[in-house]
Amino acid sequence: MIIVKTGKQLKNHTDGKQVGFVPTMGALHEGHLSLVAESRNRGLFTVVSIFVNPTQFNNPEDLAKYPRDTEADLHKLRAAGCDLVFLPEPEEIYPPGTDQKRYIHDFGHLEHVFEGHFRPGHFRGVGQVVHILFEIVRPELAFFGEKDFQQLQVIKRLVALMDAPIEIVGMPTVREHDGLAMSSRNRRLSPEARQAASVLYTALEFARKNIRVLPPDRIRAEAEHLFNRAGVKLEYFEIIDEDSFCKAENTDSAKNLRGIVAAYAGGIRLIDNMRLA
Ligand code: AMP
Repeated sequence: MIIVKTGKQLKNHTDGKQVGFVPTMGALHEGHLSLVAESRNRGLFTVVSIFVNPTQFNNPEDLAKYPRDTEADLHKLRAAGCDLVFLPEPEEIYPPGTDQKRYIHDFGHLEHVFEGHFRPGHFRGVGQVVHILFEIVRPELAFFGEKDFQQLQVIKRLVALMDAPIEIVGMPTVREHDGLAMSSRNRRLSPEARQAASVLYTALEFARKNIRVLPPDRIRAEAEHLFNRAGVKLEYFEIIDEDSFCKAENTDSAKNLRGIVAAYAGGIRLIDNMRLA
């Protein structure tokens, strides 16, 4: 496995190859590795980046506490058959002297609702770093998890705005045995919070099973009840039309409905989502 720190070194190894790209912030788990496996299965030269991007954190404490474990990550990537790891320093991505506001895109409605509303500026930061990484890595395909469903939609919009010939592949959420979506943040959960955190999945499953039976308001009320009982602080639980990212007022239409949720388990912010119908 090749390890590089600069875009120039990366280009020396990727020139003329069909690249499959998996951008990450490290602290890797099976969710990340499923993206690597998909790229490998498609016969692509698989590049994984590990970069904790400061411009997408609206909360400095969250950035400081973001788990970092590069040695363990490299070990997992080697075992997963990754071809090249890109480990840039912040100056490689944001060179001093260049406009730090370059590649900031406007994603419209998508960047103002749900994750965008509760994490102002987050998607502009995500769009910026992914744009820069795409320019450096120049992949044919890039793999993203449905775990971050709103981000996946933002990335699809980004590629359209960039007019770049990059295919975006969305991959299913990998979960723990009790349904909790795998996340780098899970390792910050206390044992009690970890146990309570499965309520995100329980509430989404309740919504999926009842989407044709109960109106959205009733489903939301039951979800709130489940969160209260689990002692997990709910930030939002919504049923949306996944194409428009607008709240679904009724569920008997032909829309693609998705449940989306954000909540704090023992002070750690977790998100999840599920296709409902
Ligand atoms: P992150 O390191 O959190 O920025 O995530 C890097 C990529 O891994 C993103 O495309 C995420 O959506 C994806 N990812 C994170 N967790 C999971 C999961 N549990 N299942 C599938 N993909 C995931």
